[in-house]
Amino acid sequence: MLNEILQDVSDYMAWELEEGTLTAEVSADVVAALAAAPPGGTGSTPSAPGGTGSTPSASAPVSSPLAAVASEIAACTRCGLHAGRTNTVPGQGNPQPEILFVGEAPGKDEDERGLAFVGRAGQLLTKMIEAMGFTREDVFIANINKCRPPDNRKPTREEMDTCLPFLKRQIAILKPKVIIAMGATAVEGLVPLPEGKTISKVRGEWLEFEGIALMPTYHPAYLLRNPAMKRPVWEDLKTVLGRLGRAVPTVRKT
Ligand code: URA
Repeated sequence: MLNEILQDVSDYMAWELEEGTLTAEVSADVVAALAAAPPGGTGSTPSAPGGTGSTPSASAPVSSPLAAVASEIAACTRCGLHAGRTNTVPGQGNPQPEILFVGEAPGKDEDERGLAFVGRAGQLLTKMIEAMGFTREDVFIANINKCRPPDNRKPTREEMDTCLPFLKRQIAILKPKVIIAMGATAVEGLVPLPEGKTISKVRGEWLEFEGIALMPTYHPAYLLRNPAMKRPVWEDLKTVLGRLGRAVPTVRKT
């Protein structure tokens, strides 16, 4: 009974946060970790964000493997990006998704809310997801880096490599059928690209990350600056639908 109530509260808070109407004074790190908990979890909470840096095993028990990773991310100080963050952004969505979308790193809105892709680029990503016939809750959305780089600069290779183990653990838990890597940083973070190959050379062609099909495509922020590139991205998304054995929805919403 208590578990059900806690799960309901967790779902409600995640929904309110997603809607931007959450007013309760609760750390977004905690909400993000709760949102990652599977239905029917134990109802236990992850360790407090910005805590001692202790691992979950040394702190309060966590309710799912994803929440455990989110809890570790919340306490991470492995690279300099931690110093400038308001919240860590572990990623959120369906814990058993068909599709995992991966971007670069949180921006200002994401840093403030502790949720991936909730700013302008995120609104376009929502349209892309819905054009494919999914909702944001059907998929999982994450980034290579879990903390915002200063002035939204591209993360350095060292910062990417330091943070990547978190995403790799998330992927091992999520077991998506397809990863959609959006933008050069997302692709380069997961797959070593041949010398001289840019995102425009590799987009639309299947790559592989640890046995999982990976579709490289342009980043939504790039599409906001270059709307003409929405068409090739839609082709990439249709290729993903084909791989998943899904029909292309007839009404495009983007
Ligand atoms: N850009 C990204 O790469 N990730 C986000 O979460 C938001 C914007």
